[in-house]
Amino acid sequence: MSQYAVSKENLIYSFDAHMNPILTVPSGSSLTFHTVDALGGQIKQDADTVDALDFSKVNPATGPVAVEGAEPGGALRIDILDIETDSYGVILAVPGLGVLGNAVQFPGTKVVPVGGDRVFFDSFSLKKQPMIGVIGTAPASGSIACGTPGDHGGNMDTRDIRAGHSLYLPVFQPGGQLAMGDVHAAMGDGEVCGTGVECGAKIHCSVHHIPSFPIRRPLLVTPTEIQIIASAETVEAAAKLAVEDLVEHLVLTHALAFNDAYMLASLAADVRISQLVDPLLTVRACLDRRYLDSGTSI
Ligand code: CA
Repeated sequence: MSQYAVSKENLIYSFDAHMNPILTVPSGSSLTFHTVDALGGQIKQDADTVDALDFSKVNPATGPVAVEGAEPGGALRIDILDIETDSYGVILAVPGLGVLGNAVQFPGTKVVPVGGDRVFFDSFSLKKQPMIGVIGTAPASGSIACGTPGDHGGNMDTRDIRAGHSLYLPVFQPGGQLAMGDVHAAMGDGEVCGTGVECGAKIHCSVHHIPSFPIRRPLLVTPTEIQIIASAETVEAAAKLAVEDLVEHLVLTHALAFNDAYMLASLAADVRISQLVDPLLTVRACLDRRYLDSGTSI
């Protein structure tokens, strides 16, 4: 049972540098965010179609919540405890959207049952693996639509942002200002058609303020890996940002020379595509945590 509930009446469509919190909680609090799907719950049946996706109006996030004591130069750690999805999800084909958007002749909608640990897509049964598409903090300046990812987080559409994993987000503004939404019951790396199984959900998490943890962009910790998540206009540019951070991390944690850290990253790290379909593209540089634990031979 969470200490705080954030209702889905509290929606934002952009992460603003100076947005006002709807709630302020102490570090260490447990919260449940009630979230709507990427289309705001407007699609209920296969006959409801979407002709075009306006990234300035999709992916509403629930929040923001301020964390007491959070100040620029620190980070928020969000421990994702559980994600309960609605009993159905929506998948869209939209002309112009996704990797093959130009080949989509007319819009298509599929509303699929989500039950137990499965998603049922026609005769296919897929493993249900709920993930958070949009999660972020107030940016350093300006306003960033919830459809766009960035150093503040936002629409990262990264399948590993899920229960059992911890996400560190930079704090750029007092309180951090955490908001989240856009849950997918299942999605592959790339999100090639531009949607996952889009669901309303309840996200159970705990939030901690980590002082003096000056990360530049989101960092995900899973039981086995650290993942640095970067977004940019191209895959190559996003990969460069993520790898730069990872190599710097290795230099600092192992006191390695740059060349050695660079070579080690080449041997041990994977660069994975998170999504190829949003206004900026997202990749993550992933390293087995064994290479970070002290005393481990490498
Ligand atoms: Ca999304």
